[in-house]
Amino acid sequence: MKWKSLFEPIKIRELTLPNRVMMGSMHLGIEGVPEKEEAMISFYTERAGEYGPGLMVTGGISVSPEGDGGHHFLGFYREKDLTTMKRLTTRVHQAGGRIAAQLFHAGRYAYSELTGIPAVAPSPIRSPIHRETPTELTELDILNLLESYAEAGRKAKEVGFDAVEIMGSEGYLINQFMSPATNKRTDYWGGSFEKRTRFPLAVLNAVRKAVGDDYPIIYRLSGMDLVPNSTTHEETLAFAKLVEENDADVLNIGIGWHESTTPTISMMVPRAGFIQIALDIKEKVSIPVIGSNRINDPVLADDLLQQLDMVSMARPFLADPNLLHKSQAQSLDQINTCIACNQACLDHAFEGKAVSCLVNPRAGREYKWVYKKASERKKVLVVGGGVAGLESARAHAELGHSVVLYEASDSIGGQFNLARQIPIKKEFDETVRYYTTELKRLGVSISLNHKPSTEDLLNHSPDLVVIATGVVPRKPIIPGVEFAIPYPDVLSGRATVGKKVIIIGAGGIGCDLSHYLIERGDHEILMLRRNGRMGEGLGKTTKWAMLQDLKKHGVKFRTNLHYEEITEEGLVITDGETNNKEFLKADAVILAAGQESNLPQEYDRLTEKGIQVAVIGGARLAGELDAKRAIYEGAKIAFEPQSIPTTQR
Ligand code: FAD
Ligand code: NAP
Ligand code: SF4
Repeated sequence: MKWKSLFEPIKIRELTLPNRVMMGSMHLGIEGVPEKEEAMISFYTERAGEYGPGLMVTGGISVSPEGDGGHHFLGFYREKDLTTMKRLTTRVHQAGGRIAAQLFHAGRYAYSELTGIPAVAPSPIRSPIHRETPTELTELDILNLLESYAEAGRKAKEVGFDAVEIMGSEGYLINQFMSPATNKRTDYWGGSFEKRTRFPLAVLNAVRKAVGDDYPIIYRLSGMDLVPNSTTHEETLAFAKLVEENDADVLNIGIGWHESTTPTISMMVPRAGFIQIALDIKEKVSIPVIGSNRINDPVLADDLLQQLDMVSMARPFLADPNLLHKSQAQSLDQINTCIACNQACLDHAFEGKAVSCLVNPRAGREYKWVYKKASERKKVLVVGGGVAGLESARAHAELGHSVVLYEASDSIGGQFNLARQIPIKKEFDETVRYYTTELKRLGVSISLNHKPSTEDLLNHSPDLVVIATGVVPRKPIIPGVEFAIPYPDVLSGRATVGKKVIIIGAGGIGCDLSHYLIERGDHEILMLRRNGRMGEGLGKTTKWAMLQDLKKHGVKFRTNLHYEEITEEGLVITDGETNNKEFLKADAVILAAGQESNLPQEYDRLTEKGIQVAVIGGARLAGELDAKRAIYEGAKIAFEPQSIPTTQR
């Protein structure tokens, strides 16, 4: 394919970017942790280089102590962090990349239990996702904050950043000043639209004055707050014009606040689902506009660039640091595409853990998981072509080992082949495509429809056998269970169900199954579990949207019950509260009652024969298994062979 605009350079003041893609700001959860400095710097340097993003933006760097956004933020006010930043910019430049610092203040989203200082905001209004009511800023505080922003800009330039991005969206401090929902001030800094724009514009002017005329300033502007009674569309367009007039060089359009109840980047959002707002802003201004949110494909990015100046792709660079290099080389099939699951990135960030990526567990571990051909080429046999086995095969082959992969069925992917049937999980197709291409490129020999016997395996004289035989659906012990339909039969289309459906199990797969049925027609769905809540185990950043959607579609949920019997007509339960037996009529009872490990006993003989064996993914442990753990374990045994427990050898 011929790229129309992706690799066209763009000049911002004195800075020339070699392409039109910006790696948007991502908090990595390791910033400011001295022992993790190398991990952070390696993360950015891996993504710099000739075909890296035109510009990378750091995670938010606080301009003052009470503005830290959570765990492990860098701060411009901390001397030791400035040294870290200097090392970061030096290494990125040595690698041929360009990096901008994001000037950040969380405002009412800050946590005083982490900063040790009360959170501040234009008005003392608590965010619905927060326990703490912020302290109202005094006029003097505001003037001091403007100085902090200016100082941060000055320091960003001094330590070698190529540009700054002023974080004015996502509901953080500057955005809180802009919005009538959070700014109820009656002084100079609040009230009318014009007064609410004063703080954001004063920040911009203070930073411009501090960095000088030759230095690029990106303003991250909230294109759409997606919270009630907030800035209107007309105000947003007018404000974009004001930001341009006040000397910003580029507008990067953010969508939604953290407290918004509309999904903005999860897999429920279609690709480029919010791009119209950036296009509307583009019509009003003449400075470059960057569009973002759910742009995970270079072909789509190139198309969008026919109307926009740049695109921001953040998570796609977690999933694949070489995304643009592969695009340049026309190797699109080799791209490891971000599937918008949020499971190892945003969920980790919100849990205060280091960020990584479900489909690329090397993200954040680049410093220790180095691609270097192994000195000794091993013969590795992988049994099972689910994502655990696929990643293990890929990583071993990438490290120079000879790999054979056995898969019992006629295709690779394992449970992903069921997951990708869920309408919102179409992106999972990309992961299966990626592994298909990668294993071919790396010369992994794949044997489909083949359950190897121990003898088959021994005949190869392997150095290592990886058992990745995954999971099988749990068949709970309930009288009449033979009348129930296992969930794979529904998702694979082998079984059809009537209108009234009961699902036994309300975990991730139960929820997905409901979603699948909703999309397929008019069903009355009742999800059950014996104890606990619906959707337990789903990630923090996606669970609420999933449950909200199921509720909207009338899916019912019951818990605190005991299953008595499944019949052809439905299910008998005992209600845990009343102790009464009830008959729940249904056209179909579907089992989504969790998974059990599938670990063929016959492979025990391998260990007896002295072969090194590693058991990974669902085969090792079905409890709390998800693709994040499966893929991570597949990679880990390749990069850290010493981690294979001796009991598994
Ligand atoms: P499996 O996927 O079970 O793969 C095992 C493979 O081994 C299979 O292909 C099997 O045929 C093969 N095999 C078995 N025995 C043999 C043998 N003797 N010889 C050769 N081959 C053999 N996880 C998430 O993290 N996020 C999600 O959003 C998500 N959504 C899901 C939605 C659905 C509908 C489903 C079903 C699962 C979902 N999961 C999700 C779970 C995730 O897909 C699994 O946890 C993960 O794929 C397990 O990987 P695995 O490789 O360990 O096992
Ligand atoms: P799960 O989330 O652990 O849920 C299993 C369900 O089965 C529970 O609701 C449980 O409820 C029920 N159950 C367990 N044992 C039972 C028994 N003996 N009899 C009857 N019911 C029983 O597992 P899952 O839904 O199978 O999902 C598998 C994995 O994939 C999970 O780790 C999940 O997080 C992951 N996944 C993730 C996503 C995602 O979007 N992130 C989506 C799908 C799957 P009770 O025990 O209370 O009855
Ligand atoms: Fe994308 Fe999921 Fe990786 Fe995050 S964890 S970058 S959403 S694939």
